[in-house]
Amino acid sequence: MGATLLLIASSSAHAQSRLVSPHEPYSPGRQDHRLLLYNTHTAERIDIVYRRGDQYISGALAKLDFFLRDHRTGDVRHFDPRLYDILSDLTFSIGHPDGEIDIVCGYRTPSTNESLRAHTTGVAKNSLHIQAEAIDLRMPGVDTLKLRRAALALRRGGVGYYPHSDFIHVDTGRVRQWCFDCPASLTTGD
Ligand SMILES: [Zn+2]
Repeated sequence: MGATLLLIASSSAHAQSRLVSPHEPYSPGRQDHRLLLYNTHTAERIDIVYRRGDQYISGALAKLDFFLRDHRTGDVRHFDPRLYDILSDLTFSIGHPDGEIDIVCGYRTPSTNESLRAHTTGVAKNSLHIQAEAIDLRMPGVDTLKLRRAALALRRGGVGYYPHSDFIHVDTGRVRQWCFDCPASLTTGD
């Protein structure tokens, strides 16, 4: 579905991008949207511009989809590109534009998700990782609690916090939050 949208008029995308308000909080008229990712399971790195102005770059999305594949099975699924925007805006909002993000988990096949559920805690039965609509991440040198606050402030989907494993979960589902196995000080809001 997303792929079809990409093919529409590249010239108009440039025109539209000039209309973006300079006061927009995290994307101040950015033309190139870039992501630097490190996959903690495969030790692969990617440095890629996946969006120019209002237009996603389909070849770049395909590379990101592969990068975020289920590393246990090798299965690839097309990610909701709005998730990439969340990642990109997150790096901006914490003052590390284009900073490198460590990917703890991307796509999960249903069988991988079931296996994780059987062997670990904190894995949801209908996890959005199965829909390629969720990513678990941390950023080297950035306090994960700060990352969590920034993700919550974006109000663009779900945000989970896993302090013991030191990562946050972001997804493109409805706006909600949770904190897994958290100290009481963190479950009372903030
Ligand atoms: Zn997750």
